[in-house]
Amino acid sequence: MTTSANQRILTGDTPTGKLHLGHYVGSVENRLALQDQYDCYFIIANKHAFTTRADRPADIRQSVIEIATDYLACGIDPNRSTMFIQSEVPAIDELTFFFAMLIPFNRVMRNPTLKDEIRDKELGDNYPFGFPMYAVGQCADILAFRPELVPVGEDQLPHLEMTREVARRFDQIYCGVDPQTEDKNYVSAGGLFPVIQPKLGRVKRLVGLGAPGPDGNLLKMSKSLNNAIFLSDDADTVQKKVMGMYTDPKRLRATDPGETDPSKNPLWAFHETFNPETAWVDEHRDMYKNGKVGDVAVKKKLIEVLNTLIEPIRNRRRHYEQRPDEVLDALRIGTKRANAVAEETVQLAKQAMKQDYFPRELIIR
Ligand code: ATP
Ligand code: MG
Repeated sequence: MTTSANQRILTGDTPTGKLHLGHYVGSVENRLALQDQYDCYFIIANKHAFTTRADRPADIRQSVIEIATDYLACGIDPNRSTMFIQSEVPAIDELTFFFAMLIPFNRVMRNPTLKDEIRDKELGDNYPFGFPMYAVGQCADILAFRPELVPVGEDQLPHLEMTREVARRFDQIYCGVDPQTEDKNYVSAGGLFPVIQPKLGRVKRLVGLGAPGPDGNLLKMSKSLNNAIFLSDDADTVQKKVMGMYTDPKRLRATDPGETDPSKNPLWAFHETFNPETAWVDEHRDMYKNGKVGDVAVKKKLIEVLNTLIEPIRNRRRHYEQRPDEVLDALRIGTKRANAVAEETVQLAKQAMKQDYFPRELIIR
């Protein structure tokens, strides 16, 4: 059913919680749409979770299972797609070390997504050395699978740009690819690594439920920021979260109805993203602007819309929650398949770097 063994997709998630609506529109929808056309690899990046919670290994382990359960609940099929655990694929670590030699340190520290994470997760200057390292590691997570496409949300674009730079440098230095080569031709010109393409979701950055950050912009929905609706939330929790969500405070104070601005209000971002009744949304947005409908009515409709979307996922999730062994087996089979590809990549990379001394084999039981 796949177009060819070489057409691969790689993407994934950090096990710092469960999957939320931002993941769904930012990346999961694309994964579901593409799982028939490509060989899909979905990484659960557990080592990256240690960047902010090295002191909570049991939570990380629990979250690995939660994310895998979410994958299955969303409809990712472990027979067609490969879901796997990052730390059980040693080729990724080996590539990380070599790739770290190809990126200037200051280049990593200028990565705007790292800066945003340091600010939004309030890490100050207390983050470990491994925090900026994870951005280099992510180049290896991706390139170990030599994929064509990487479906992600907008916040990942700086990481993917770094991945593209690493691929070009590796191919130029170790595979003799001419620096003038167009990105799409790196592999046909003899390069090992493709200069990968990001694939953004229908919504590039879904906002969270909370108030804007210090810069006045609404924060992205994130597992770590306590501002998410999870795909595993029950109907009551969805209701409570929506009823409690931030709405533009000016909306309440506005004496001139023209002052109310739907773009400052995450309620409308959510309706535009999830409500299939576009006529309802257009009509009510106008009414809202003119002070003819209040937050509560718009929130009630949103609760209905979100519960309709989440209900089937929740039901399938219940099935897997009761069968953790099935979830672990899907990960075991996936991790074996992932290692087959990643071992081949690291072997080829070492050949290109003239560091291929002995043959070896890796066994997962
Ligand atoms: P954390 O807060 O721990 O960083 P996260 O919620 O940002 O977690 P990740 O595991 O870092 O989630 O991201 C997994 C994928 O989901 C990435 O491709 C990311 O771009 C995408 N994604 C995460 N949040 C959103 C969002 N709010 N809107 C769109 N895409 C998102
Ligand atoms: Mg993130």
